[in-house]
Amino acid sequence: MTDTLRFPSLRSWVRHLVAEDHVAFANPGVSLKYELAAIASRLDGHKATLFPSPAGMDIPVVSGVVGRREWIADALGVSETELLDSFMAASNNPIPCAEVTNAPVQTNVQRDVDIFKHLPLPTHAAEDSGPYITAGLLIARNPDTGAQNVSINRLQASGPDRLGVLILPRHAHHYLEPVEARGEDFPVAIVIGVDPLTLLASQAIAPLDQDELEIAGALHGQALEVVKCVTSDVRVPAHAEIVLEGRVLAGVREPEGPFGEFPKYYGPRSDKHVIQIDAVTMRQNPLFHTILGGGLEHLLLGSIPREATILAHLRRTFTSVLDVHLSLGGVGRYHLYVKINKRQRGEAKNIIMGAFSAHYDIKHVTVVDDDVDVHDPEMVEWALATRFQADRDLVIVPNAQGSKLDPSNDDGFGAKMGMDATKPVGADPFTFLQTRIPGEDTVDLGAVLAGERPAIAALDDD
Ligand code: MN
Repeated sequence: MTDTLRFPSLRSWVRHLVAEDHVAFANPGVSLKYELAAIASRLDGHKATLFPSPAGMDIPVVSGVVGRREWIADALGVSETELLDSFMAASNNPIPCAEVTNAPVQTNVQRDVDIFKHLPLPTHAAEDSGPYITAGLLIARNPDTGAQNVSINRLQASGPDRLGVLILPRHAHHYLEPVEARGEDFPVAIVIGVDPLTLLASQAIAPLDQDELEIAGALHGQALEVVKCVTSDVRVPAHAEIVLEGRVLAGVREPEGPFGEFPKYYGPRSDKHVIQIDAVTMRQNPLFHTILGGGLEHLLLGSIPREATILAHLRRTFTSVLDVHLSLGGVGRYHLYVKINKRQRGEAKNIIMGAFSAHYDIKHVTVVDDDVDVHDPEMVEWALATRFQADRDLVIVPNAQGSKLDPSNDDGFGAKMGMDATKPVGADPFTFLQTRIPGEDTVDLGAVLAGERPAIAALDDD
């Protein structure tokens, strides 16, 4: 059945990246402590990196597999301009998973768990508390309804069969809380190494009880195959590389962190939930995926599903909104650029206020006209430089909810700023006409440029 999918697994996607010359191969034996991350970080956004037998271990590590926006569009089989609409269509039309009983990910089952011995666990940033699993999809199951939730949580390797985990008060936490209150452990699965569309779907801003794996199915255009865990009722992608099956221990909290997070600052050390690992299942010859905190893979996985949700949110009220972008300099969360076809005076300010309500992480909103490319930060800055006046076009909202990982605010309590960098309605069109050189976009440089330096007297004589 999955034979018909373009990329049913991480390995099939990595094979495609290799064929497209998007993968760099490290020498065997790279150190898991910092060196692997250093190499992957230097190549971030240029190439994915594959590390055969890092530190002499059997399992190769891959990083940066969705480190470019165009690769994500490629995985979806759409153009970059269709990316957000395509993601939103899938989010609105999820496809229930197809359960199988025989899954590649359960080829090897280990119940005598030692993650330090069997998994190549890298340490990334200088102040990280130690090795982390950073590309693990944590799957939680609503014990009453069977609805599942997928999220990527940072997972500290605390012991051979023990993980420290940050579970924010979102969907997985909602399922966990009543179970823990009864004094019972809460079964979870951690899935490492999935296809790029499942990776993207895991970050969808979906409602509670909407299984992100069903959005993955919709992105694939076909039900995602899942299999029941060997130690619990949790269902996991059948074509994943590695699954850790375990339980969040009731009433147990242990130190976790610090850990280098998406804003390129550290999340602090504090007491967090603990997962006891009961079994590890793997494909034959598995791949281990690691995501660099704050790297492009991390930022794009966070930003693209959010952009799709924010665009849909704004379009419900404002028909003039054409496109949105969460800039990478704004860590894929804090800086929103909105492109509009402005028709009414004041409209941009209403859109700024609407955008603040789309997600509390949004801190600074810049609204531009339809002749500005929101994916080009220099163009957005140009619009601010030439179409914005601070006394007239600036919106500031003090004392609002923001991101707790923004070190400039007070534990998530801080200011919002909106900038209207659009032309005034009814402005003289010539005043705001961008200069243009006829033929610049179409000139055939291969035809008009000389292959070698011509004889020019001024360059040849003293
Ligand atoms: Mn969810």
